[in-house]
Amino acid sequence: MEVKVMKDILGENDDIASKIHGMLSGKKIFTINLMGSPGSGKTTLLEQTMKALNGELRMAVIEGDLFTSKDADRISKYGVPVVQINTTGGCHLEAPMVEKVLAKLDLDNTDLLVIENVGNLVCPAEFAIGEDEKVVVLSVTEGNDKPMKYPLIFKESAVSVINKIDLVPYTDFDVNQAVDDITTIHPSARVLSVSCRTGEGIDGWLDYLREGVKRKRG
Ligand code: MG
Ligand code: ZN
Repeated sequence: MEVKVMKDILGENDDIASKIHGMLSGKKIFTINLMGSPGSGKTTLLEQTMKALNGELRMAVIEGDLFTSKDADRISKYGVPVVQINTTGGCHLEAPMVEKVLAKLDLDNTDLLVIENVGNLVCPAEFAIGEDEKVVVLSVTEGNDKPMKYPLIFKESAVSVINKIDLVPYTDFDVNQAVDDITTIHPSARVLSVSCRTGEGIDGWLDYLREGVKRKRG
C-alpha cells in the first residue's frame, strides 16, 4: 500500500515536472537542479558562476531553503533575478513548488535557470522538478565514501562536482577513489574537481554550462 501511495505521489510530481520542462524547453532555457549536502558549496558555486558569466549569459535562480532567505540574499547581490522557495521544513523540492514561483521570473529573457535544491543527499534525487539535468556537489570534507553510500543522487546527476579540492591535503579524501566510485555508479557522468575558494577547476564547470545553453538554443 505504501509503495502504491509513493508511486502516485511521484507520478503526479513527474507529470508537473514534464510540463515545466516542456515550457522551459520551449523558451530554450537550460535548467539545472543543483543538489548536495548542506555546506557542500552549492551557493558558493553559484556565486562563482554569476561572477564569471554575468553579462555573457542571462541567468535566473530559484533557491530552495528550509526556512531562510540567506542563500537568496547572497545571490541577489550579483544582480541576478532570484526567487525563494521556503519548504518550511520539507527536505527537498517538488515540481509543484517550482511551478508556483516560475511566473515571478522573466523567462523570456533567461538562458540559464539554476534551481538550488534543499541541502540533502537523499530525497532531492527522487523528484524531478522540470530540469534538463541534475548536478550534485560533493565537498571533500564530507568524505569519499559518500557516492557509494548515497548512490541514487550520483546515478541521477549528469555532473558530479567535487568541491573544496584545495582542502584535500588536510583530509583523508581520496579523489581517485571518489571519481572511480562515481563513474562506477554512473559511467557517463561528468566529474569535475573544483575549488570555489581558489577558482581552481571552475573553467570546466563554466564550459559545461555554456555547452548546455548552446545545446538548448539548438
Ligand atoms: Mg545553499
Ligand atoms: Zn525530502
